[in-house]
Amino acid sequence: MEQNNPVIELRHLNKRFGTNEVLRDISFQTNHGDVICIIGASGSGKSTMLRCINMLETPTSGEVLYHGKNILNKGVKVSAYRAKVGMVFQQFNLFNNMTVLQNCMIGTMRVLKKDKNAAEQLALKYLTKVGMAPYINAKPHQISGGQKQRVAIARALAMEPEVLLFDEPTSALDPQMVGEVLEVMRDLAKEGLTMIIVTHEMAFARDVSSHVVFMADGIIAEEGAPEMLFNNPQNALTREFLSRFM
Ligand code: ADP
Ligand code: MG
Repeated sequence: MEQNNPVIELRHLNKRFGTNEVLRDISFQTNHGDVICIIGASGSGKSTMLRCINMLETPTSGEVLYHGKNILNKGVKVSAYRAKVGMVFQQFNLFNNMTVLQNCMIGTMRVLKKDKNAAEQLALKYLTKVGMAPYINAKPHQISGGQKQRVAIARALAMEPEVLLFDEPTSALDPQMVGEVLEVMRDLAKEGLTMIIVTHEMAFARDVSSHVVFMADGIIAEEGAPEMLFNNPQNALTREFLSRFM
């Protein structure tokens, strides 16, 4: 976190829904190769923050910088930006009428203008990486939740993004399927992919993250290295939150 050319930087981000102040003065940086885990209770604003980074929500005020440029400025192309900063959702968001392979081709064809052949090669490369190559002709309803999430990760990777955002990628899964998805994410972290991950998987966050951000009621209540935040939390709210997982 010491370098000074962040890939993503939030500056004094605020977000209100009506009178509900959901994010208050959120600032933080993500450098190349960082794995940032965002933890915090339900309703603390974690998803809203990720959605602001991915332009799914517009902040009330503040800046979201990508390589120093404010993505909220006029003229920023949303689809081109999302190709660079991809997102994996809790509910997978696969197209149910398409096969696994087609799900992983559509984005690269539409957004990156890849021809069918190139799109298929990319899809196969990343489906192989997540262990889903044997299922290319399956429809989403024919595979398990863990497999769907691995396909969703392959779809995001096929865009060859610079940053991947994950919003509770294992929260919708049966417990026995959580491990296979976390394993894929661990591999990506080892390879140096820059990731911002909202998760309730504390052991994973402790092992994999370079930096942990604890959110409480719309603010960053505490952040730091995982050893510090998990072993020696400074804030009473952090201690109270973590005690629920012990
Ligand atoms: P988390 O992901 O940490 O559970 P969220 O970012 O989903 O938290 O929600 C934070 C707060 O913002 C909650 O009070 C939630 O009800 C509110 N909120 C989120 N999205 C919307 C929306 N589209 N409209 C109104 N309120 C919202
Ligand atoms: Mg959420």
